[in-house]
Amino acid sequence: PVDRLPEIQEARLRLPILAEEQVIMEAVREKECVVLCGETGSGKTTQVPQFLYEAGYASSGGIIGVTEPRRVAAISMSHRVATEMNLPSGVVSYQIRYEGNVTENTKIKFMTDGVLLKEIQKDFLLQKYSVVIIDEAHERSVYTDILIGLLSRIVPLRNKKGLPMKLIIMSATLRVEDFTENKRLFRTPPPVIKVEARQFAVTVHFNKRTPVDNYTGEAFRGILVFLTGQAEVHSVCRRLRKCSLNVQNIQFLIFLKCPYYSQSLSQSLPRINLDSYSALPVDEGDEDRQAGIDDNDNEGSDLELGDHPDKEKADPSIPLYVLPLYSLLAPEQQAKVFSPPPTGARLCVVATNVAETSLTIPGIKYVVDCGRVKKRFYDRVTGVSSFKVTWISQASANQRAGRAGRTEPGHCYRLYSSAVFGDFSLFSEAEITRRPVDDLVLQMKDLNIEKVVNFPFPTPPSSEVLISAEQLLISLGALEEPPRRGRLGEMERARLSCPITPLGRAMAAFPVAPRYAKMLALGRQQGCMPYIITIVAAMTVREIFEDYDRPAGSEEENTKMAGKKARCVQMRRLWAGQGQSVQLGDLMVLLGAVGACEFAGCTHQFCEENGLRYKAMLEIRRLRGQLTNAVNAVCSDAGVYVDNKMAPPTASQVLCLRQIVLAGLGDHIARRVQAEELLDPKWRNGYKTPLLDDPVFIHPSSALHKTLPEFVVYQEIMETTKMYMRGVCAVQAE
Ligand code: ADP
Ligand code: MG
Repeated sequence: PVDRLPEIQEARLRLPILAEEQVIMEAVREKECVVLCGETGSGKTTQVPQFLYEAGYASSGGIIGVTEPRRVAAISMSHRVATEMNLPSGVVSYQIRYEGNVTENTKIKFMTDGVLLKEIQKDFLLQKYSVVIIDEAHERSVYTDILIGLLSRIVPLRNKKGLPMKLIIMSATLRVEDFTENKRLFRTPPPVIKVEARQFAVTVHFNKRTPVDNYTGEAFRGILVFLTGQAEVHSVCRRLRKCSLNVQNIQFLIFLKCPYYSQSLSQSLPRINLDSYSALPVDEGDEDRQAGIDDNDNEGSDLELGDHPDKEKADPSIPLYVLPLYSLLAPEQQAKVFSPPPTGARLCVVATNVAETSLTIPGIKYVVDCGRVKKRFYDRVTGVSSFKVTWISQASANQRAGRAGRTEPGHCYRLYSSAVFGDFSLFSEAEITRRPVDDLVLQMKDLNIEKVVNFPFPTPPSSEVLISAEQLLISLGALEEPPRRGRLGEMERARLSCPITPLGRAMAAFPVAPRYAKMLALGRQQGCMPYIITIVAAMTVREIFEDYDRPAGSEEENTKMAGKKARCVQMRRLWAGQGQSVQLGDLMVLLGAVGACEFAGCTHQFCEENGLRYKAMLEIRRLRGQLTNAVNAVCSDAGVYVDNKMAPPTASQVLCLRQIVLAGLGDHIARRVQAEELLDPKWRNGYKTPLLDDPVFIHPSSALHKTLPEFVVYQEIMETTKMYMRGVCAVQAE
């Protein structure tokens, strides 16, 4: 029996999913797998684990596992469910890559999908679990897809063994055919239960002449703004804090003050009049194509904010309580969005995509949607990555709009016309079709899935991508070389079913991508292991340096930012070391930064003063611990430990480290453009790689920017203003 507080009980009863409890639990009892669809906010994540708990799924030793694609969601949902159930975190717990609070008493465990995948490697049948819930399946994250493929096999195996297990796939959209109609995945399609969202109507506003009613008494009704990235979030937050506004002004402000949007939008929505929005249902069409472009309508467009007396009268201005929300933000900052704003102020959350489906921010009535998302793109052939801002899908736009209709009817202001909306793709594509899969292939091989092409992927990656993954793994020594004989077709097939080598098994035990796992596997020479562990940890954590290049607001802030940046540049130079170690380039900077930070006790203050991202440094610390344990587990005589007072590597160790790095990044080699190849002045200081016609460059912030060694290896190529190599290390030219 669960002892919930009365106010929690009351709030639960208002959730649409409560009405479906019987139907859901009956389906779960009868079927191995159930698919559950329901709008964001209908109560899937917080309530279904509780239904299962109350139905006894955690009472005979098994636990209820819930996977989330995002760490933020795993942590905050475990807290929320613990609160609702009035149970301690030792019972409703979470586990993410670096941390968790799981105990022996854990009954409900929220985790990232990657964590569960690792657990399958240890115990293919997942015997601890009585139920696994795959949440946010509509996001189609790579690990979620793979988990569904694996669980489609694990669940029947468990039942055959007399250890029954259930699978519940939850999605915020109705697009679940990839799971239900994929005969390779589920021979008998699982039942789909739809939760009727008792979502309040959300009025979607385009630029037509219909004033939105007045705003009196609108305090406590929150605003959620969707933007594409951290820098934008900060710049809009800063501007919003300076003024108190109503929601229309906010949209207006984003138009005016983010040149990016106003530029690109000026074609579709040239001038915006604050008082002329039309209210159209989401699905209605294109009629604003010509509307609103009327030049007589634009008297509002040159207004400075706050300089609008009429508006002010209608809207007794309510101070905004502005909070940023994005995934790199420190957890305690992220958590702020769940608490009520200060009395008399209106909550305004300026967020990236993280707020689209996984988190429910209470009390949102207004959504302002920029219609875009920043995504990582990966070129299949060349391996070049870039972040690009693209239009979202219609499904995403509707998700975002839906966030406004939680507690009462809401409004969504779209910074694009309905014509543009009509051109959006219907759904976002599965992540697995957009990134390399070498890590997945290695993990599958380790699970003895030899013919990865035959794996029941909900959406299979192209065979091209699978082949290049196997090729990389062969070159790293993780898979056996295929026989060289045979006709071409046979060879292709053979290449797709190479068995794993003992080295490959060791590599699969490390929670990092195969390239880095290879480095760890070689790390024992000359006492290099602690350094390699540190370098790998730092390379696999996102962005260890604070970004001081974002557009600042005031003069004063600019100066402060410039000072911090200068300090950061100076520190990087220091960390790059002297003598031999300089050759390690950016990897020495990482090593030096982590070393210095740990030496100082990894404090917030040290990070702040030296341009390091505190959250990243904490992640590196945990990952170092985890990798150290993994190394000791793989080779019992390794005897490595985490040393917080690491001495810099000696000259011969530096040489050794460079060889180890080269072994992992051997296909990421680049050679300086030779004088006779200098056809174009733009090629100066450029590097040639085997796969690209155009040169790549060493970024000005790199430790090797001045040195320009003849041969280098790089972690990745990132295309921004130019194609830049990231994580550059010099290699010996022999
Ligand atoms: P779904 O998974 O279907 O999107 P959730 O279970 O996440 O829905 O959320 C259901 C409801 O629980 C939300 O509408 C919100 O009112 C409430 N809720 C969720 N998390 C919190 C929280 N941290 N604080 C307050 N209320 C919350
Ligand atoms: Mg959810």
